[in-house]
Amino acid sequence: MTTRIDGKAYAAKVRESVAGEVAVLKERHGITPGLAVVLVGEDPASQVYVRNKGAQTTETGMLSIEHKLPVDTTQSDLLALIDDLNSDSSVNGILVQLPLPAQIDAEPVINALRLDKDVDGFHIGNVGRLWTGGEGMVPCTPLGCLMLLRDQLGDLTGKRALILGRSNIVGKPMAALLLGENCTVTIAHSRTADLPVRCSEADILIAAVGRPQMVKGDWIKPGATVVDVGINRIEKDGGKTRLVGDVDYDGAQGVAGAITPVPGGVGPMTIACLLHNTVEAACRQNGIDRASLS
Ligand code: NDP
Repeated sequence: MTTRIDGKAYAAKVRESVAGEVAVLKERHGITPGLAVVLVGEDPASQVYVRNKGAQTTETGMLSIEHKLPVDTTQSDLLALIDDLNSDSSVNGILVQLPLPAQIDAEPVINALRLDKDVDGFHIGNVGRLWTGGEGMVPCTPLGCLMLLRDQLGDLTGKRALILGRSNIVGKPMAALLLGENCTVTIAHSRTADLPVRCSEADILIAAVGRPQMVKGDWIKPGATVVDVGINRIEKDGGKTRLVGDVDYDGAQGVAGAITPVPGGVGPMTIACLLHNTVEAACRQNGIDRASLS
């Protein structure tokens, strides 16, 4: 039997816990955590993400601030807004929705965020802290994967983990997090030799490639825990589309010990972790011990 890891249910628990912490922050400290989301342009997928983030921020009792800028916004205009948000005390977290339009270079924009307001954890300073074991902001998707793994497996010490994908937003921070959990970590990518064999050695397999159903059932070690980060839209019969992950979910049944579905696995955890990080940012900025909130 393969266990279905219910990311949707776990994300609801994270949001509930965040809402409880926010209530205490308000009542005991007079603080309402604020999350500012900056969207440049009208990319349809980004608009949906931003809308969902705003709605969930408000639902947990936090302040949601949206800045929607025109597609022809200049780099200096965007940097000026970041500057304002950095010094605005009602804003504890800032997220710049990616991708940005072509005239804007994302790297200096992300690195202009105040380190302790970078709730996406993409600032070079937070990347450095993650890899050196310091206290920084952890990128939301890998953090969500880690929460699900801990919930499923408990202590991860000594597990062999294979991460498929080496992007800065998923693969690399995931590797740093699992190293921190005392896993033995391999990162695989498009140039990895003998990929199915490498996958079949892993107790924990994280797929973050963006290739629909690439990982087959017979690539998976029997009993392994599989976390499928991929979100791919494929055509069904009749021209309709549906979402699938990077793993052949049906093929993994009866082989994997547990697996996250797509949709309903890692996806819902990403926004939940963004809210979790915003509370973390509010606590750090105000010298509050987060543990005292629960
Ligand atoms: P990127 O495109 O930035 O990175 C993909 C990685 O996969 C690269 O390292 C690439 O290798 C590797 N890769 C591509 N093709 C192959 C292959 N045939 N064999 C082995 N490795 C391969 O993607 P992201 O990390 O941004 O996203 C990955 C997936 O996760 C996407 O489907 C995305 O939609 C999803 N995602 C989901 C999120 C969520 O909230 N659930 C959040 C973020 C992403 P190389 O470096 O050699 O090119």
